[in-house]
Amino acid sequence: MKRILFSICCFIFISTLQAQKTYIWCGSLIDGITNEPQKNMTIVVEKNKIVAIENGFSSKGSSSPSTEINIIDLKTRTVMPGWIDMHVHMEHETNPNRYMETFTFNPADYAYLSVKFSEITLMTGFTTVRDLGGTGVNISLRNAINKGIIKGPRVYTAGKSIATTGGHADPTNGYRKDLMEDPGPAEGVANGPDECRQAVRQRYKDGSDLIKITATGGVLSVAKSSSNPQFTEAEVKAIVETAKDYGFKVAVHAHGAEGMKRAIRAGVNSIEHGTLMDDEAIALFKQYGTWYVPTLTAGAAVADSAKIPGYYPALVTPKALEIGPQIKATLAKAYKAGVKIAFGTDAGVFKHGMNWLEFVYMHEAGMPVMETIKSATINAAELLGEKDKLGSIEVGKLADIVAVAGDPLKDLQVFGKVIFVMKDGIIYKQ
Ligand SMILES: [Zn+2]
Repeated sequence: MKRILFSICCFIFISTLQAQKTYIWCGSLIDGITNEPQKNMTIVVEKNKIVAIENGFSSKGSSSPSTEINIIDLKTRTVMPGWIDMHVHMEHETNPNRYMETFTFNPADYAYLSVKFSEITLMTGFTTVRDLGGTGVNISLRNAINKGIIKGPRVYTAGKSIATTGGHADPTNGYRKDLMEDPGPAEGVANGPDECRQAVRQRYKDGSDLIKITATGGVLSVAKSSSNPQFTEAEVKAIVETAKDYGFKVAVHAHGAEGMKRAIRAGVNSIEHGTLMDDEAIALFKQYGTWYVPTLTAGAAVADSAKIPGYYPALVTPKALEIGPQIKATLAKAYKAGVKIAFGTDAGVFKHGMNWLEFVYMHEAGMPVMETIKSATINAAELLGEKDKLGSIEVGKLADIVAVAGDPLKDLQVFGKVIFVMKDGIIYKQ
């Protein structure tokens, strides 16, 4: 019975929305474009789009009797575009039994968890995310959110990551020999340019939105190196060329400099983590216009968890202690050098819902707060290839709008106090 009532309520809510104009009164408006907040503004939303931005607190154009007016009073709040996290894993979350879950979880177990994590992510202000690798459940998750079946951010998903044999995203790393086998390109393990092309085409068939590869070793895989190169340049080139054929962007996990450089030269769109980038790598970022997605929150979290005895497998602990604490200094250097930065956290490696900490860490690494906000709005939208729809509060863009209690430019803790969330013109938190 409850369920029927809920469905009816939803239907009424959605149908009234069609003939409704929403006037959001903003005490302070950070639009994602300008460097100074604008005081006392009104954003007008109709259906799922921003249709006007006006000075003062208005409800102009409300004269038409057929238009229902909804006023949202955020006069004491700071309003900004919905945040975009360019690096999350919606299917799982760190815990000391995480490695055992690989053997005990069915797809449905990941699915139920991802429903919970999606709602947490949306309610903490992230209206769009890029899921950079899971079991493939993340594709169904995106579809369920898009259909309005469950609450969550707009998801752009890589589906399954692509690695070489024994590489960071090889799903059978650390398994007993008879369980290892060779997962093959469909499961994300590809060797040589031909298999790399096949793996990309499989992602197209699966319904992925972009390609994620692991170009170097990583921290949390049960394997020795955190940073060795794991694809040849010819393999990455084959991936990038094929990805272009299918309209995919390519996101690349890389800690080590050599793997990073090969990937940048091959024409990938973003480097994730980027921990050990040297001056030559920085020059390549700038030459090729490659984006850097730092994931400082994950760096801090893995270093903390590694101090708890037994939290990670023995091969993982030293890597976490070595790599984690270095990323912040890397961002400081890259930002100073003028590398393009997009916001990404690696949520799942730490608890979902704490993504906002990235703003704090980025600021600690030397980025002005306004720049951290742009990295999570307009910059992220540009890297997604969705700048015409997302990333700023401008007329014609999708109504993804969040508000915090307080002034984030003065106190970064307010990023953790999201009090209003609208995605695609629908209010999820008020
Ligand atoms: Zn990741």
